[in-house]
Amino acid sequence: MVRVRFAPSPTGPLHIGGVRTALYNYLFARQNDGKMILRIEDTDQTRFVPGAEQYIIEALDWLGIKFDEGVHIGGPYGPYRQSDRKPMYRQYAEQLIRDGWAYYAFDKPEALEAKRKEYEAQKKTFQYDCNTRLQMENSLSLGMEEAQRRIVAGDPYVVRFQFPDNIDITVHDMIRGDVTMNSRLLDDKVLFKSDGMPTYHLANIVDDHTMEITHVIRGEEWLPSAPLHVMLYKAFGWEETMPRFAHLPLLLKPEGNGKLSKRDGDRLGFPVFPLEWHDPKSGEISSGYREKGYLPEAVVNMLALMGWNPGTEQEIMSMDELIKLFNVEHISKNGAKFNLDKAKWFQHEYFQKLSDEAVADMLEFQLKEHGIEADRAYVVKVAGMMKERITFPSELWETCCYFFQAPTEYNEKDVAKRWTPDMHIHMAKVIEILNTVPFEYDAIHKALLDDYIAANGLNTGKVMNSLRIAVVGRTVGPDMITLVMMLGKDETVRRVERAIEKLKVN
Ligand code: GLU
Repeated sequence: MVRVRFAPSPTGPLHIGGVRTALYNYLFARQNDGKMILRIEDTDQTRFVPGAEQYIIEALDWLGIKFDEGVHIGGPYGPYRQSDRKPMYRQYAEQLIRDGWAYYAFDKPEALEAKRKEYEAQKKTFQYDCNTRLQMENSLSLGMEEAQRRIVAGDPYVVRFQFPDNIDITVHDMIRGDVTMNSRLLDDKVLFKSDGMPTYHLANIVDDHTMEITHVIRGEEWLPSAPLHVMLYKAFGWEETMPRFAHLPLLLKPEGNGKLSKRDGDRLGFPVFPLEWHDPKSGEISSGYREKGYLPEAVVNMLALMGWNPGTEQEIMSMDELIKLFNVEHISKNGAKFNLDKAKWFQHEYFQKLSDEAVADMLEFQLKEHGIEADRAYVVKVAGMMKERITFPSELWETCCYFFQAPTEYNEKDVAKRWTPDMHIHMAKVIEILNTVPFEYDAIHKALLDDYIAANGLNTGKVMNSLRIAVVGRTVGPDMITLVMMLGKDETVRRVERAIEKLKVN
């Protein structure tokens, strides 16, 4: 039974890189009929941000990334928030000490800082490890008896992992293959503090083990920690059930150099967060995909392809298709560049999949904001006609307004280019034609384009675009006769009369 977890720390809004990690876990779980778990890793209380946990839940829910167990829905392996699991970690720290895999350390922050300075002065970097640990104040250098005496006396301490000297540790990564690191390069990481809180490393391994996690799929930034994690499984005697690891490639800046950051989003004008985030401390607002009008399906599709491909040219994939097609073998080892044009392309594609009714709902909402009540069937018709020109719902009003109100001004450039001094004569003729021929597409088309424009050797572009200026306000919009049919004879005539009046050359 596959069991995977998404294990964010509630230190702020969830970055889209984190969303992609959650998505890949979800696809993998669903594909294997497994379970998807949401665990909140909040052991570092100094970085806790109120509202972040709720944000994470809301964002993933909006995107359709669902969980089988988790902090918000419970489950048989709970609690799913590490601070609620606090009492269970101490025994594991003590087990490691008992078995010679960890030790108590009493070094004060000032003492550690002094050591760092001492090394710096010699152009070296201090690392708390097999070479230096005996110079420090810990149960290895002081002896266990002294260590126990200090603990009983209430001295603050931490528990550090004790890496064996000079062994090669291999992480079998599903994406990268074997990654080997020598223990001499690794520092004796803090696992537990005397306030009873474990650090990320201890809590993460204990929880993955006790929650029976089978696969750890997470960002590449955790690869350097993986050798320690592998050693912890060994130290606890849990090697048999150690999960398999997959470290996902980074999401890179659009230029390709470096990790995608919030600042890149601000700089280039795209969100790096799924939902808008109001920072409780600074009051700063960061934009979100949802509020920008992106459809969740578009965001999911775009993120799925940032670091993975189905092995074919197919780009548009629904969540169900992604679940079918996803495979770890096709996850790339290299970072994936964020591409704003591509994000917009996905959004446009998904917008086209919306029903005319759904687009009409959005349009109606914007019409109301402008004080316009319109016939539902008419709104649906406009929505269906204009959808292909729209990428974001916010463009609806701007793109469709002339279906609902006459232009109040005329684009100067268009007027200068098309509305020649004789144009009032031609527009008066257009009115005459509209008032006399049957109000049908073909009849109007023939009367206007053949019997008047062509028969009199007039410039079609000039006349038809002037009519467009009169009706729309500028030279944009759908097929002109279709537009006239939509607006009706009376409204079209009124608009043309008004343009003749307003654009009169004195
Ligand atoms: N709490 C870690 C994070 O915020 C989880 C890393 C992991 O999945 O092991 O990314």
